[in-house]
Amino acid sequence: MRGQTAPKDVSSSSNPSLLLSLNPATLRRDFPILERLVHGKPLVYLDNGATSQKPRAVINAISGFFENGCANIHRGVHLLSGEATQAYDRARATICQAMGAARPDELVFVRGTTEAINLVSRSWGDLHVRAGDEILLTEMEHHANIVPWQFLARRAGATIRVLPITPEGALDLDKLPSLLTDKTRLFAFTHVSNVLGTVNPATELCRIARERGITTLVDGAQAVPHGPVNVGEIGCDFYVFSGHKMFGPDGIGVLYGRGKLLSSLPPWQGGGDMVERVSFEESTFRPPPDRYEAGTPNISGAIGLGSAFDYHALLNWPELREHEHALAAAAHEALLSIPGVKIQGTVPGKAPVVSFTMDGIHPHDIGTILDSEGVAIRAGNHCAQPLMARLGIQSSARASFACYNTLEEVETLAKAVRKAHRYFG
Ligand code: PMP
Repeated sequence: MRGQTAPKDVSSSSNPSLLLSLNPATLRRDFPILERLVHGKPLVYLDNGATSQKPRAVINAISGFFENGCANIHRGVHLLSGEATQAYDRARATICQAMGAARPDELVFVRGTTEAINLVSRSWGDLHVRAGDEILLTEMEHHANIVPWQFLARRAGATIRVLPITPEGALDLDKLPSLLTDKTRLFAFTHVSNVLGTVNPATELCRIARERGITTLVDGAQAVPHGPVNVGEIGCDFYVFSGHKMFGPDGIGVLYGRGKLLSSLPPWQGGGDMVERVSFEESTFRPPPDRYEAGTPNISGAIGLGSAFDYHALLNWPELREHEHALAAAAHEALLSIPGVKIQGTVPGKAPVVSFTMDGIHPHDIGTILDSEGVAIRAGNHCAQPLMARLGIQSSARASFACYNTLEEVETLAKAVRKAHRYFG
C-alpha cells in the first residue's frame, strides 16, 4: 500500500502553515526556494505571473510518487499500477471538488492553458464553427487565447472579432451587445489579464453569452493562483488553466468542459487509452475524460497538481486576497512616486499584477538592474502583442505578486526601480 498512499502521506508530512496567511513570513517557510540568494542578495521573486514557486508539500508529493509509487496508470494488473491509477484519479476528484465541477469526468488533464485552448479549438471548433461564423475575443488576450482561434477561423472561413478595452484597462462592456450577433459561435475571454491585472466579470459575461446561445471559454491562467474559482457559479462552458502558476508543477493543467457538451465532442488526438475498440477500418472512443487523454499522461504532474489544490485548500483566501491587494496598492503608490513611471491597468480590485514603463529606459534594462538587486520581474510583451499595440507600447516591465510576497519586498522593488531611474533617467 505504500505507493498508493505515498503522495498524500509524504506531502502531508511537511504540514503547510495552516491558516497563517496573515503572516506571509510564516507562509514563506513552506516555499524552500524563497530562502535563496541571487547575486548575493535575498531573492525577491515577483515573476509569479510567469510561474509560481512551489511549496514543499507539492515537491514532496512529486518526489514521493517517484520514490515509492512510480508506475503507468490504467494498463497494469500489478499493485503499483493500481496505486498510481488511484492517485491520478484522486487528483482529478480533488480538483473537481475544489472547482465546483459537477463530476470529475468534466475535467481533462492537459499540458496547460495553451493545450486546453488548442484542444477546444480542434474538438469543439471543427464541429461547430462554419464559414461566416464569428468568434469574439477581447483586446486583453494572451496569445494562447488568440492564435488557436485564428487557426480555427482559417480552417472554417470564420471571422475573429474583438471586444475593446477602456483607457483604464477594463473591458468596454457598452460595446458587447453589438459584438454578440447571430453569427457569434464563441466568446473566449480571460478571467484575469496577465498584463493589466483586470479581473473580468466572468459570471456576468457568461450569462450574457448563454442567453444568446453562445458558447463560452474562460482563460483562468491568472485567476486560479489567487484563490478558489467555482466553474459552477461562473456558468461557463469551458474553463482552462495551468498548474504551474498556482503552486503546481509545469506540464500539467486542466480543461473543464460542461458535462453534456464535453461528451458530445470528438477526440483531437488518437492513441492508447482513449479507445474502446480498434480495427484497421475504424475505432470507437471512450467517454471523457479518457477520450481526450491519449497516451501516457503526466501522472506525476497530476498528482503534484492535486497536492497544490490540497495546499490551496489550507489557505485563508479572503485574508490572502486582501494581502495581495495591499501589495498591489503599495506597489502602485511606490512606483508612481518615481519620475517617468507609468502603470498599465488601473481598474479597482485588480489582481496583483503591476505592469509599468519608465521614460527613457527599456523594460529589459529595468529587468536587468532589478535582477542585480535580487528582484526577479518580467520584461517584454507578455505574449500579448495586440494589447501592447492598443496601449501604444512595445513592451513593459511586470511585477506580479503571490500571497507569499511581503510589503518589504515591495519596498525592495521600489528601491531597485529608483536605482534604474538614477542610472538612466
Ligand atoms: N493565458 C494567460 C492569461 C496567461 O497568463 C498564460 C501564461 N502566461 C497563458 C494563457 C498560457 O499559459 P501556459 O503557457 O501555461 O499554457
